[in-house]
Amino acid sequence: MLHNNLSINEKNHLALAGVDTVELAHRYGTPLFLMDEERIRYNARVYINAMKKYMGEGSKPLFASKSCCFKRIYSIIAEEGMSTDLVSPGELYIAKEAGFPLENAYFHGNNKTDEDICYAMDSGVGHFIADNREELDAISRFAGERGITQKVILRLSPGIDPHTQAKISTGKVDSKFGTAIETGQAMELVKYVLTLANVELEGFHCHIGSQIFEYSSFSDAADIMLRFIRDVRDECGYVVKVLNLGGGFGVRYVESDPHIDYEANIKGLGAEIDKLCAELEMERPIILMEPGRSIVADSGVTLYTVGSVKTITGYKSYVSIDGGMTDNPRYALYESDYSILLANRAGDAPDLTATIAGRCCESGDLIQEDVALPTPVRGDTLAVLVTGAYNYSMASNYNRIPRPPVVMVKDGGSYVAVKRETYEDLCRNDM
Ligand SMILES: *Cc1c(COP(=O)(O)O)cnc(C)c1O
Repeated sequence: MLHNNLSINEKNHLALAGVDTVELAHRYGTPLFLMDEERIRYNARVYINAMKKYMGEGSKPLFASKSCCFKRIYSIIAEEGMSTDLVSPGELYIAKEAGFPLENAYFHGNNKTDEDICYAMDSGVGHFIADNREELDAISRFAGERGITQKVILRLSPGIDPHTQAKISTGKVDSKFGTAIETGQAMELVKYVLTLANVELEGFHCHIGSQIFEYSSFSDAADIMLRFIRDVRDECGYVVKVLNLGGGFGVRYVESDPHIDYEANIKGLGAEIDKLCAELEMERPIILMEPGRSIVADSGVTLYTVGSVKTITGYKSYVSIDGGMTDNPRYALYESDYSILLANRAGDAPDLTATIAGRCCESGDLIQEDVALPTPVRGDTLAVLVTGAYNYSMASNYNRIPRPPVVMVKDGGSYVAVKRETYEDLCRNDM
């Protein structure tokens, strides 16, 4: 199977971490998000241990909250000793409610409002990843009012377009995020930051994109960023301590995606960074990375119940399910690939090629096209694999569809981490 936490049991059912998914569908209802708690912990440990070992003491991964955000996730990653990044005051609120140690949090966002900045400072968020000059001015002012010095990492764009989809590559010069090195504006901004009171410039951040399968894209970014750190040292006499390389490695969603060994890639990247630092005659900074999907994606499976199979004579077949773009908008947004099977007949040979359609009033509400399946019948359980990232966190109430629950699978059992939304929840703010 795609990942080693997936298997087919003696009943011919799909199992996640050894737990029968069809039984879970009957017990909790569908649509249903399942997550394998041990897999999240395992992925976190791989990054934590490898970054410490190959990039030095202090180097560490920050969990990218946007990939999956609810209270239980924060307690799991806090228990593993992992730090986190937050991109909005809403994520900050949830981390805080979960008791996450916010001194280990990094506050992102390309447009933090004054309220956001004050809220983060008053909550004790340790680090800000600042995007622009106006924001830096506001951080300086509000830190001054509070009599604190706020640690800040500056978001820069290294001008790299990794071999990935255009919509999720964000390190290019023409981007809404950060400040470009190439145009000289980054150096200007650094000089400006160094004049600001109540702000301590810790380092620089870049994020070159997502679904990166080998470390060479990261070492290209590291090359540009380390040169910039050296240039700042030479021009400003100021040595920054931290280099944050942004989002993590890719994830195997379908059989044709490569297998990726995170530890080996972190080792390779660490060696490249050491080589570059030696060439540039500088000390290796603390390295941060911000993996999201590679921590949670392969822990997740979404279960649906099949409603109908419609074959349009001379065209194609549609399999309709009881969820759709409201719990997984990624095919509608990016045509993302997913692996799909019938959980209650997991080992059966496919005899139908079909489009999997959601229940929203949108022709574009599809989960995947050209999926090979044993011909489903109403009541079958359909499983979409590797949905732990950017599914629950991107879910919506479009068409007033309640969001599914998140059930964690652990030690052969299961527990509810997020309840299913009710119809009452759908109008709780309506006057
Ligand atoms: C999206 C994003 C991440 C996480 O990316 P993954 O592909 O989920 O690892 C990290 N940092 C930043 C700045 C991002 O925009």
